[in-house]
Amino acid sequence: MLRSNIENIANQVLSKYVAKGGAYKQFEKICAGESITYKEIEADEKHFCGVFTKYLDEQKHIIINSKIDNEGRKNFTKAHELGHYFLGHQLKGHDVNINEECANKDPIEYEADYFATCLLMPEEKITSAVKSMLYRISKGSSSLPLYITNRNYKSWAIINSELTKRYGVSETALRYRLSSLNLVIFGN
Ligand SMILES: [Zn+2]
Repeated sequence: MLRSNIENIANQVLSKYVAKGGAYKQFEKICAGESITYKEIEADEKHFCGVFTKYLDEQKHIIINSKIDNEGRKNFTKAHELGHYFLGHQLKGHDVNINEECANKDPIEYEADYFATCLLMPEEKITSAVKSMLYRISKGSSSLPLYITNRNYKSWAIINSELTKRYGVSETALRYRLSSLNLVIFGN
């Protein structure tokens, strides 16, 4: 599936369910609207992060490991599982996916990751957020992309702290999104 298609689907979900604020806050609303039941179970994190599955009764479920201790990672896992659902991935049964998030091999795993990225950090919103923060930090003198080096690492610390909170993501996910949108470049 094309990245632009995945992004369009994520944007449709956003316009249906997320009026304002971070999409991670609307996870339960999205599940309810799509008749997906959500639950967390306690499992050894190394072997299980999350799964989207349908049982024989056709009821859809998202199950997440409650032991994921980083909230950003947990939100990303939830959004990833929603990706499998909204992208119409054919899952073969609930046990085949049990290890999925820890062994990203199948192309559908990359698609679900990209969906999660677009859902949690929509391009338009995050671009204007970075622009206005940068304007504030540099008092109007800096332009995009922002080159992060040891000298201005403090700027990154401010952006990171504010945006990971606003979007409910980990620093890893934020760095990935901002680099691929060419908003921030990490140098030495
Ligand atoms: Zn997956």
